[in-house]
Amino acid sequence: MGKYSHLSEVDKKIEIQGFGIKISRELKADLQREGFYPVALTWLGDDLTGPFSFTGYGDSSPFELRHEDCGYHVYRDGEHFSEVTFYKRPKFWDRQWSFGDGSESTFFVEEGMAGVITPCAPDNAFSENDDVLKVTGGRFPFVGLACYNGLSIWPSYGCLYTKQGSPCTFCCIPGDYNEDKMLIQQKGWLDGVARAFEAAVDELGDDIRNCSLTVDSGTLPGRDKGAWAYIQVLEAIKARIGRLPDMIYIRAVIEPPYDEEVLFKLRDAGFTGIQCDIDVYDDAERLAIMPNAKGKRPISDYVRILSKAKEIFPGEVATQLVAGIQKDENLLKGVERFAGIGVPTLVTPFLPFGQGLNMVRVGTASVPTPDKMRKVYGACAEILSRYNMAPPEFRGGVSSLAETMGRRLKRAPSLTNFGKPESALNLRAV
Ligand code: SF4
Repeated sequence: MGKYSHLSEVDKKIEIQGFGIKISRELKADLQREGFYPVALTWLGDDLTGPFSFTGYGDSSPFELRHEDCGYHVYRDGEHFSEVTFYKRPKFWDRQWSFGDGSESTFFVEEGMAGVITPCAPDNAFSENDDVLKVTGGRFPFVGLACYNGLSIWPSYGCLYTKQGSPCTFCCIPGDYNEDKMLIQQKGWLDGVARAFEAAVDELGDDIRNCSLTVDSGTLPGRDKGAWAYIQVLEAIKARIGRLPDMIYIRAVIEPPYDEEVLFKLRDAGFTGIQCDIDVYDDAERLAIMPNAKGKRPISDYVRILSKAKEIFPGEVATQLVAGIQKDENLLKGVERFAGIGVPTLVTPFLPFGQGLNMVRVGTASVPTPDKMRKVYGACAEILSRYNMAPPEFRGGVSSLAETMGRRLKRAPSLTNFGKPESALNLRAV
């Protein structure tokens, strides 16, 4: 019996998620040689995922990855904690976009959200820890294999609020991105996305049904909050392959458009569900943490739009709240308010990367402890159960609310390396 064998897999995920896992450069190189991807998304079993192998905030983590017995294992302070596995690197990832300007300012956030590729980090981002980022020479895949446990497309890495100098203080994406990073406005990008998506459909075959598609972005200018860009992505795919494939869901993650007609347009384009993240519930806390138009937007606006969305979309309508940057009681009030209109809340812990790293440095936020997250998840589970609601099917990888409530999502077999690769036998154990 190992020291940690009494812990359930869900408890192990909650223990790890705020720390990240230290992974040596050598082991990362080994993982990549083996065709695994991404290091950021780790699996405990085949139905419990979390993007918690973040060396980016794991320097002081008690967790470290080791390779032994042809498998990958997490150790905690030198004691075996759990076996883990990773996604494999799909071939459609070779379909990459480049600004073609020889720019070296594109970064691959190796450990961040969404497998995360962002062309938006400034040159000196994370210079204190170059394990976090790897310059890609300006190339990154059109279609991400994301911490959403499915495919993701970002039509823009830019965010209006960052451009205005007022980003949300917990924003997980680093950088001073601007209109240049509105990929959809770059010549050839939409066509490239459609071709890359076609390649993904070919590669995954029938297993595409076990995948989801998420279109996400920073907030774009305009009353529709960028819905036009989301719609163009689906239209380009339909023009290329003649249809949208059957998937678990096709979800727009977007700030609520001001006008309800936009919801109909998103649904008509093929989105089956929508997620509008409140992130912070209390009005005063919202303004302090989101010093921009999003922070000024009243919760009643979210209630109005999400209530309408419930009538329109065939799939799930959801929101998100972040634990650790607001009072727990306010977060729970938010969960209850939205449960009251039939909208489940994805509850995620604050993590210290991107802009959020500054919050930790100045002491305005800290990563919630595992005990605190267990309490928050338990209280949220109680609220959702009382309203006879399941947790969101969309889980962003890092939230353990769904698993706390017994809901699991199996990873797509086509994105998984089954068994141990032959060459793993030659790998050095660390
Ligand atoms: S959290 Fe979203 S809305 Fe806020 S600055 Fe970041 S990308 Fe923009």
